[in-house]
Amino acid sequence: MHKINEKIVLGLKGIRKTYEGPPAVTALSGIDLQINKGDFAAIVGPSGSGKSTLLNIASGLEKPSVGQVLLDGIDLATLSREQLCDLRRQSLSFIFQSFNLFPVLSAVENVEFTLLIRGDNKKAARQKARESLELVGLGDRWKHLPSELSGGQQQRVAVARALALQPSIVFADEPTANLDSKNALSLIDLFVTLNKSHHMTFLISTHDHRVVDRASRKVEIMDGLLMN
Ligand code: ADP
Ligand code: MG
Repeated sequence: MHKINEKIVLGLKGIRKTYEGPPAVTALSGIDLQINKGDFAAIVGPSGSGKSTLLNIASGLEKPSVGQVLLDGIDLATLSREQLCDLRRQSLSFIFQSFNLFPVLSAVENVEFTLLIRGDNKKAARQKARESLELVGLGDRWKHLPSELSGGQQQRVAVARALALQPSIVFADEPTANLDSKNALSLIDLFVTLNKSHHMTFLISTHDHRVVDRASRKVEIMDGLLMN
């Protein structure tokens, strides 16, 4: 499990994915993609083109039918189930379209939860969680439950949770899809700030041209194939 190249965060080589069905559906037909440290990459394509499948495979949530996924230089296929869980916990964050917050936990508890699972001690986790909420502009809302926050604010809690883990890469699957345009714009601004000032690496799937316009790299996908 040695590291191959520190600059490359994610490498996808010859990725194919067929869902067996019936009927069998080929979602990805041979994807080669490399994401470098500091990239802000957008995957753009129509509904059904394979964006979610690509992100799920790149993040180790699903296995490819064929091909290799390298995360921080580590070939995911060489890992046991447990090692894969550990690597996913240490190296990446995933921001979903629905915010996936625990309704009974406050903002700060939602953020620190993943840190505690990872093994951080209580005091360090609380401090890190407060700092992360501060960074996303929710420093004064840390005690609030998700139901006491707007959709945009809930999405920011999800971003704070991703940020707190200091991952090598952040995956986001259509993160602005459930937000109104004001909240969508401020979420994108937040991503750009985190990318520029904290060198966080992003791979984001989106339909949203406002996300695409801010991206440093644009990757187009059509029928399971990259166009450029
Ligand atoms: P996108 O995110 O771009 O809308 P998806 O990656 O979700 O596209 O889907 C790509 C294709 O794979 C679609 O034809 C979709 O119906 C199919 N698909 C996705 N997930 C599954 C699954 N679990 N079982 C069968 N087919 C699937
Ligand atoms: Mg999708």
